[in-house]
Amino acid sequence: MAPSIASTYDLFIDGETVPAESGERFETVDPATERPIATVARGDAPDVDSAVAAADAALDDWRSMAPQERGRRLNALAEAIRDQSDLLAHLETADNGKPISHAEADVETCARYFEYYAGVADKVHGDSIPLTDEYVDYTVREPLGVTAQIIPWNLPTNIFGRSVAPALATGNVAVVKPAEQTPLTAVEIARIASEVGIPDGVLNVVPGFGGEAGARLSAHPDVDGVSFTGSVPTGIEVGKTAVENVTNVHLELGGKSPNVVYPDADIESAVESTMTGIFANAGQVCSAGSRLLLHEAISDEFLDELATQVEAMSVGPGEGDADMGPLVSEEQFEKVTNYLDVGRAEAGEPFIGGDVLDRDGYFVEPTVFTGVDNDMRIAREEIFGPVLSVIEFSDEQEAIEIANDTDYGLVAGIHTQNMGRAHRFARDVQAGQVYINEWFAGGEETPFGGYKQSGFGREKGLAAVDAYTQVKNVCANISPET
Ligand code: NAD
Repeated sequence: MAPSIASTYDLFIDGETVPAESGERFETVDPATERPIATVARGDAPDVDSAVAAADAALDDWRSMAPQERGRRLNALAEAIRDQSDLLAHLETADNGKPISHAEADVETCARYFEYYAGVADKVHGDSIPLTDEYVDYTVREPLGVTAQIIPWNLPTNIFGRSVAPALATGNVAVVKPAEQTPLTAVEIARIASEVGIPDGVLNVVPGFGGEAGARLSAHPDVDGVSFTGSVPTGIEVGKTAVENVTNVHLELGGKSPNVVYPDADIESAVESTMTGIFANAGQVCSAGSRLLLHEAISDEFLDELATQVEAMSVGPGEGDADMGPLVSEEQFEKVTNYLDVGRAEAGEPFIGGDVLDRDGYFVEPTVFTGVDNDMRIAREEIFGPVLSVIEFSDEQEAIEIANDTDYGLVAGIHTQNMGRAHRFARDVQAGQVYINEWFAGGEETPFGGYKQSGFGREKGLAAVDAYTQVKNVCANISPET
């Protein structure tokens, strides 16, 4: 039986669950039923100010705690997240709509981030730099201080772990603003963290709206670093504010990623990988493979196999663990169905799908448009839904030109048995990560971030240590005369 979900959720500040200072609340809605799940405290500027003050007060003790002890506590948090995975996964599915098995995987990923960075905590060190005999020079890596994590709704628990774990491991304290559509797991994880020994004030969560809590947090003068994951327009706004305050910022933004398939690919595995790339999380993934670049010699064979497999997919509520759940919200449903109209006008009737499901909830069919030209809107704009645009190509040069002809540069994938060609693609494509013969290849250990409009800065792996620390150089004159 699914664990019961509370009917109210509050802010988590300085080790305590508290209502918003204004007393205001908002509803979070189950996208599979369109019914409210719970009411949540609506954090705003005064609450962000309290959270930042609590974080600031906790900073000195946390950053000076022995690194191995910080690591132990983050390990304890990883284990506690695993212990409570049933509750967290059901909260995630209720809030976001994703299939329960995917929510369970996201909770495990979150636990794994805390475990991975727990191991990193006592391995963050500087360099010794050789100068002349008169000097000793070394660097140290210090935390930024109070950090802000602004999280999107598509992978709330996963990105919570990805953004918060490296911050805490490197001695920073955190104030998290989850997306208004999906705030529940963030508040629960903060509570769990407090129970396993993360000191009061080190991890605070302020649910609320972007223009209120989010805007105050990214503009707060006492915030020393901002990790923003979300859309390009909001990222630009957050980035401008950070620059005005001269605050360290990294931006993890959207994508329109090319998935290139050559005739020598293992077709069955390439079809499976293509489907994972565009239909996982109902296409609401920054690194979705939303442009399929298909070699003209295999287009018919590939599309026949794709149609067979897509028609076998189940679409339904995440609690029933269908292959694909609903879109997250009415707003996202309107956006994606509008793109279905745009696609019909640009490329004609979809090859597969293209309709909404006749039931409650924000369900659309997995959809494939063929005959797409890379200039069309459905090839250039991030739809963030289960909508694949298929573009044919004839040779390697053309494939790389189309792959790079985009404002984005988050990920790119290639399916081929020819490793020379795969690595030429990896060399020439403008993207932060490249997948060869498997979409979403990689893990918590592998750096992740964007080229071009997909953002700057890197999370995941040891690259996040750079993002969350600043380097201090110390140079001593040791000559006998001094
Ligand atoms: P969004 O930009 O609307 O919101 C993201 C977060 O920013 C939310 O918490 C929101 O409340 C907050 N926000 C909104 N306005 C704000 C403001 N003025 N100041 C501060 N914060 C504000 O994005 P979304 O619709 O929640 O997420 C979808 C987008 O996120 C897609 O473009 C997707 O590609 C991107 N994304 C990127 C990555 C990545 O790692 N590169 C991962 C997941 C999602």
